[in-house]
Amino acid sequence: MPDYNPEDGALKIYGLVGYPVKHSLSPLMHNAAFKTLNLNAEYKLFEKKAPEIPDFFNSLMDAGIAGLNVTFPYKETVKEFIDEYTPEASLIGAVNTVRIEKNKKTGHNTDGIGFIRHLAQVYRSNLKGISVFILGAGGAARAIVFSLARCDVGNIVVYDIDHDKAKSLSEEVMEKSGFTRIGVADSADELLQCKPELLINATPVGMKEDDPVLIKAESLFPYTFVYDLIYKPAETKLLRLAGKRGLSSSNGLGMLLYQGAESFEFWTGLKAPVEVMRRTLTAVL
Ligand code: NAP
Repeated sequence: MPDYNPEDGALKIYGLVGYPVKHSLSPLMHNAAFKTLNLNAEYKLFEKKAPEIPDFFNSLMDAGIAGLNVTFPYKETVKEFIDEYTPEASLIGAVNTVRIEKNKKTGHNTDGIGFIRHLAQVYRSNLKGISVFILGAGGAARAIVFSLARCDVGNIVVYDIDHDKAKSLSEEVMEKSGFTRIGVADSADELLQCKPELLINATPVGMKEDDPVLIKAESLFPYTFVYDLIYKPAETKLLRLAGKRGLSSSNGLGMLLYQGAESFEFWTGLKAPVEVMRRTLTAVL
């Protein structure tokens, strides 16, 4: 358990390390939570280029840093600085949360937990047997795919522009979790044959205004629930397309909220004030 002691007057620093991180909403969400619980803590952004990472991780204690979120592009490479892993981080093979206590760094991953927690609200909590098609095989997709496998979904098809990346993720899932109903698509058009109940966009495609939609309109079936991890813009072209075809869908704001709440609880041992965090996020988006 973390050693958070609200009576201890010392300021505790938390933050997000990655590159780039300038536009992150995590400081707003976490600082609102600290304020609500009256904690002497502050959440900062640490925008670091790769050569700066070793020095940064080796001086966390000196800098008074008690916890970190880790984002693109360091979720996997950061592992060399971690002393201990939670079962979640160890299964997923990537870290998005670090707790620093008495010079011990414990790595955790809250992306998959946050995704499943939000999905239970907007779609369903029992995912057993459903078919899933996921666009992207990067850091976020990795956490989601391992979490879906644990929920005993029916099958998962992974598509990534880098076919080898999708293949190695699928092989790793089979090897580490024993979940074998996972395969790789050669193109996003295979969605048409797969007819999934759940379609997830875990690529950054859709963040920019001139981004294309990765799938064809006719690949969306009336029963497909569309989840886009992107939350800015709130409605991507993919979500607009889903809406036009009358499908239920969600953006990734709830995932951001719940992965943040899980990180907060992992650092402090305190229950995260989720509603305050949610209100803070929705006020700026
Ligand atoms: P990432 O590690 O870079 O993974 C993205 C993957 O998508 C990469 O494998 C990339 O391949 C692939 N890709 C890029 N363009 C593609 C295309 N046209 N077709 C198919 N695959 C393509 O990024 P990430 O950290 O997983 O994040 C992915 C998205 O999720 C981002 O938009 C991020 O903001 C969002 N996200 C949201 C939350 C949340 O809480 N809502 C949490 C985490 C991430 P290459 O590497 O070859 O380009």
